[in-house]
Amino acid sequence: MTTGQSAKPDRPGQPHVALGTGQRWGLRLAGAAGALGVIDAYGLLRRRLVRWSACILSYHRVGPDTELPTDVPLTTPADFEQQVVYLKRRYQVMSLAAMGRAIRAGQPLPRNAAAITFDDGYRDNYRHAYPVLKKHGVPATIFLATAHIDEGHAFWWDRVSYAVLLTTARKLESDRLGSYDLGTTPARWEAVSTMDVKLKQMPDHEKNEAIEEMVRKLGADVPAAMARDMILTWKDVREMAANGITFGSHTVHHPTLIGLPLEQARQEIADSRSRIEEMTGQPCDTFAYPDGREGNVSPAIKSILAESGYVCAVYALPNRLVAPGADPFGLARVSPKWDFTTFRLSVSGLYPDLASVINRRRTG
Ligand SMILES: [Zn+2]
Repeated sequence: MTTGQSAKPDRPGQPHVALGTGQRWGLRLAGAAGALGVIDAYGLLRRRLVRWSACILSYHRVGPDTELPTDVPLTTPADFEQQVVYLKRRYQVMSLAAMGRAIRAGQPLPRNAAAITFDDGYRDNYRHAYPVLKKHGVPATIFLATAHIDEGHAFWWDRVSYAVLLTTARKLESDRLGSYDLGTTPARWEAVSTMDVKLKQMPDHEKNEAIEEMVRKLGADVPAAMARDMILTWKDVREMAANGITFGSHTVHHPTLIGLPLEQARQEIADSRSRIEEMTGQPCDTFAYPDGREGNVSPAIKSILAESGYVCAVYALPNRLVAPGADPFGLARVSPKWDFTTFRLSVSGLYPDLASVINRRRTG
């Protein structure tokens, strides 16, 4: 790895997330609904009407801050604790594996089932989320990309953010990624998001080559010590495994599986499982698809998961609850974003239900 600064870099600000008109109205509506107690009433009513539904929450990073500028979703420890306490009081929080087994067997779940999950295996999960979960005795699943734990390498999207936001270069010319003006901070954030979209569409080997080329040209890469400190260690994992946290697979190298030859996908799926079981001494029977949009998953990949001994798999897909008849290898998740009101709006089912009605009207 080429290295940039070894000290904590000056942060070039956070990404500016522009809300669309619909989202702005959605947030206003959420505020009003929260103030009127509509959300909790809807949640109660919904649970009386449906046989059961389950909310699988998808977190990434939990902490007061991140060591590098990033657009990976970050939940503060205070917000996380508020959400955990709320879930514990109003929902039946269960392990994802238990939920997956019941769904697979066609058994009903509690009317208010919920599961907490984290993707990628950032070390802040150990530092900031685990103490909260332990304090309140709430189970959770963390999905690990095992090569990153073994080697302490930064994830590709963090390398892109670091290189583009902290380089001293003022522009980038890349055959694979295009030309970018890096003269201002907003232009750099814009470049990060454009590159992320392009990279996600590339087959895995091409994506990796494009990133290596970009990092070389910009002369800035996540320093090795920072990368090691960002990712969980097996010691962290074992301590959490002994205290109510379970570990699922997020493959070995975090490739987009749809772009891989099936034999390679099979290896990513099987090897990560056996490595996690070897290091934790516990079964690893849940899986989260890397870059887990529905379109990135094929029936062949789902069959490999079932043959490899997994009981269920989750999409990254935000904001849909799981209902009877769900495919255990295509479970939707809810992304806890923004403020507490919006969180309650999502887990109650009100926001997912409204979104599905609006989408049906649009497509219907
Ligand atoms: Zn991931």
